[in-house]
Amino acid sequence: MKDMVVEMLASRGVRLEQIARIVVELQRPYRPDLTVDECLRSVEKVMEKREVQHAVLTGIALDMLAESDALPEPLLTLVKTDDPLYGVDEILALSITNIYGTVGLTNFGYVDKRKMGVLRVLNTHSGKSGTKVNTFLDDLVAGIAGAAAARIAHRSEAAG
Ligand code: MG
Repeated sequence: MKDMVVEMLASRGVRLEQIARIVVELQRPYRPDLTVDECLRSVEKVMEKREVQHAVLTGIALDMLAESDALPEPLLTLVKTDDPLYGVDEILALSITNIYGTVGLTNFGYVDKRKMGVLRVLNTHSGKSGTKVNTFLDDLVAGIAGAAAARIAHRSEAAG
């Protein structure tokens, strides 16, 4: 299942290494020594969680259905235009960050607001400015990055 989900992300333009780069940036103030490889391992661990896999499968499916106009209205327009009042994409991503408590949640908000790394690319190709629909994908990626960063934070705390 994990491989399938990772492949699905790749088909939508997101490689785990790109998510790991966001994690490096998030953790830099606290762990300046952190490498992309270490963050990639954390991202891989997050991807092993069933909650994460289910959230990614669901969100990407909705993006793809919107892209091919296969959702019923008014949901189609809400998802296609990434309506600012439609917040189910963020809610779905919270099921990812929740696994690692409030640190994950704070990270998620930060990544989402700053549109870090690959998120900027996803956003320029979607919504009103492009043909792609990444309404769910951007939040899923921010959620995975936030969770992977929180995981590292918890672990370094445990290590003293
Ligand atoms: Mg979104």
